[in-house]
Amino acid sequence: MDLWECLVNPSSEECKSLLKKHLTPERFEKLKERETKYGGTLADCIRSGCKNLYCEVGIFTCDPHGYTIFADVIDDVIKDYHKVDKLDHPEPDLGDLENLTFGNLDPSGKYIVSTRIRVGRNYDNYGFPPILTKDQRLAMEATTKEVLLNFTGDLAGTYHSLETMSQEEQQDLIQNHYMFRVEDSLLGAASIFNDWPSGRGIFFNNDKTFLVWVNEEDHLRLISMQKGGDLGAVYKRLCTAIKTIEGSDVQFAKRKGLGYLTFCPTNLGTTLRASVLIKIPHLSAQPDFGKFCENLHLQIRGFHGTRTKGVDGIYDLSNKRRLGLTEFHAVEEMRRGVEICLTREKELEAAQKRKAQKRKA
Ligand code: ADP
Ligand code: MG
Repeated sequence: MDLWECLVNPSSEECKSLLKKHLTPERFEKLKERETKYGGTLADCIRSGCKNLYCEVGIFTCDPHGYTIFADVIDDVIKDYHKVDKLDHPEPDLGDLENLTFGNLDPSGKYIVSTRIRVGRNYDNYGFPPILTKDQRLAMEATTKEVLLNFTGDLAGTYHSLETMSQEEQQDLIQNHYMFRVEDSLLGAASIFNDWPSGRGIFFNNDKTFLVWVNEEDHLRLISMQKGGDLGAVYKRLCTAIKTIEGSDVQFAKRKGLGYLTFCPTNLGTTLRASVLIKIPHLSAQPDFGKFCENLHLQIRGFHGTRTKGVDGIYDLSNKRRLGLTEFHAVEEMRRGVEICLTREKELEAAQKRKAQKRKA
């Protein structure tokens, strides 16, 4: 297999991906001819990781059954990434929504630009991007539309197909952080842009505080977001959406011990990423910024999300762990980390002011 040769080639020595670490030659031999009940193969899972040797993870899952068929390698990648010893993810638990322990993380409005939480959901009876056909995507889009157009109250909204959307509207939604970008080399090599833009679209309510991405990397991404730092309000809205969609007539892929299944193994479990766009020019200029966030289990992304750069000291900070903890605890972990970052930013800002005043005196 050509792909495998890329991975084991001596010139790939600098490759530090979890795929390279865990796909031993013995495992490769054992798994290379296997096929899932959806027709997915190992090649479908590792294509992107073999073409992008510099990536951190390197493996996607071809379909829900791939988590079983290729468990020899995927389980170790999952444990390594999510830093767990066992795959015993708890049952979903959204916590006590009447008595939430978090509200607005930045009442001053000075630091947190916006807050967003998303979860991924995938239908149990379809594969993931590498093996999906155009007809399957269109069928999924139709089912999803039917379900979403029944949402009421604060969540009621409209569906916008990418096929009929103008370039201007698309760019506007991307620039304002509402919609997925259409270029990404890792996801591209993993086939997520096949038959683009068929079957893809976005649903949103009037205020664009509740959105659903349809057929990006996961079949569905449910998103709650708003300006400012009110994490409590964002979380409650997302929980209402989760309960509404799970109360409708659809079945999502879920396994005992793994939680909800997603295309990328970094997302499975809660599938939840709670993030703030936060202005931290002093903290982000520190040489240990990366380590500081890592110790808090926070992931740093740029102004336009994954694989983009910070702009004017504004970064996207979110919970890194999604597996082995409940939905509520994943948000709590992010809340705690962001509060510590904010305190540190304020200390560094005050110290710099004091220095400047001293210089003046
Ligand atoms: P995801 O993990 O949801 O796929 P990405 O890193 O791909 O996230 O980013 C998707 C989009 O969501 C980007 O436009 C990004 O800027 C936006 N985004 C992420 N967090 C926030 C936030 N807290 N406020 C506003 N936009 C956000
Ligand atoms: Mg993304």
